[in-house]
Amino acid sequence: MTRSALIVGGGPAGLMAAETLAAAGAAVEVCEAMPTPGRKFLRAGIGGLNLTRDEDLDSFLGHYGAARAWIAPYLAAFGPGEARAWADGLGADTFTGSSRRVFPRAMKAAPLLRAWLARLSGLGVAFSPRCRWTGWDETGAPAFATPQGPARKAADAVVLALGGASWPRLGGDGSWTGLLAARGVAFSPWRPANCGFDVAWSDPFRDKFAGTPLPTATFSCCGRAVRGAAVITATGIEGGAVYALSAPLRDAIANGGTAELTLDLAPDRAEAALARALAAPRGAKSLSTHLARCGLGGVRGALLREIRRDAAALSPAALARLAKALPLTCLRPRPLAEAISSAGGVALTEVDGGLMLTALPGVFCAGEMLDWEAPTGGYLLTACLSLGRAAGAAAAARLG
Ligand SMILES: Cc1cc2nc3c(=O)[nH]c(=O)nc-3n(C[C@H](O)[C@H](O)[C@H](O)COP(=O)(O)OP(=O)(O)OC[C@H]3O[C@@H](n4cnc5c(N)ncnc54)[C@H](O)[C@@H]3O)c2cc1C
Repeated sequence: MTRSALIVGGGPAGLMAAETLAAAGAAVEVCEAMPTPGRKFLRAGIGGLNLTRDEDLDSFLGHYGAARAWIAPYLAAFGPGEARAWADGLGADTFTGSSRRVFPRAMKAAPLLRAWLARLSGLGVAFSPRCRWTGWDETGAPAFATPQGPARKAADAVVLALGGASWPRLGGDGSWTGLLAARGVAFSPWRPANCGFDVAWSDPFRDKFAGTPLPTATFSCCGRAVRGAAVITATGIEGGAVYALSAPLRDAIANGGTAELTLDLAPDRAEAALARALAAPRGAKSLSTHLARCGLGGVRGALLREIRRDAAALSPAALARLAKALPLTCLRPRPLAEAISSAGGVALTEVDGGLMLTALPGVFCAGEMLDWEAPTGGYLLTACLSLGRAAGAAAAARLG
């Protein structure tokens, strides 16, 4: 008799679990709370869909922080190379862009998602949209809220792939934690990851520069440095380089109240060379014009004066030192709802090697709902696909 599997959550982790189980011969149904699956995946496509990286496994694993050892076997079985081959198999025609980022040639997620859903339909996977998991009924079967009213769905195995708690309007809102906690499953609290930070800008600086991109700089915090882009916002600072440092920054704020992000505004110039340029006679020119002539115009010069109101009185050497190590005090991370991803979720000690909850035999977990985090830009999606595949394979093995 065909054994049945229920996948709860139609994001990349759930869909990969569905694909793996269906390919193994199980009868699979995907229950998704939203009217359509893959909403966060589609949103990730607006940035081009950075699916993975053209990076060897060891260096790839270096981006998973404290979860590195835990996630290593899953990514060794299905990592960046496999994710790329899988996407190419669906017609994505991936290419490697800057910083070894891998994108589908269409630079969006919709064609890939369409091809994926068609493959799943071909494998016999059934989709139940607007079907929100609400726990278990008195018989122990998974219970759902549907447009037709409450429903129960019996299955031989269940894979939960409910996502994290950021961007709740795309479906994953973390509201299910109470359902698992009531069954004795331990959680780490949700925290924003890949997020911006609040900075106490002065009103004139905010009014003039909110929305202004900062030219390439090197950002450092807690012994880590990232070269890249950022944007000044009305509340502080955000962007790729800031996201990459958001975990240590967030944790430093949690420990110390605030945290310092250090900016090198002239990453391609040595401090001594910058000081020499700044020492050139300024004549009747304003400080802004002088800074602009030295490559520190616009928002860079304004930032120097924002952080050191006495910048005009500084010696060229002191000004150069400041431009090479500008201290920006980050007050707090932006709220979870604005973050690209979340840290926290089901504690990794709660699942076995096949991602089955030890408290709930036959129930597996996959994707961002588990307590690991990584920078965005391929590391999140690759891990979600990998964990979905691992949970699906372990569930299929359990079904025999
Ligand atoms: C703006 C943005 C850009 C991003 N860009 C990138 C990128 O370029 N590269 C990258 O690697 N990552 C990126 N990400 C992150 C990536 O999209 C996520 O990490 C990934 O989608 C998580 O996959 P998941 O399957 O675990 O969860 P999700 O994709 O969140 O899917 C979970 C699904 O479960 C459903 N669900 C939740 N609760 C229930 C319930 N009770 N019953 C039924 N269904 C439920 C949700 O509706 C949702 O569809 C981006 C995220 C955002 C927000």
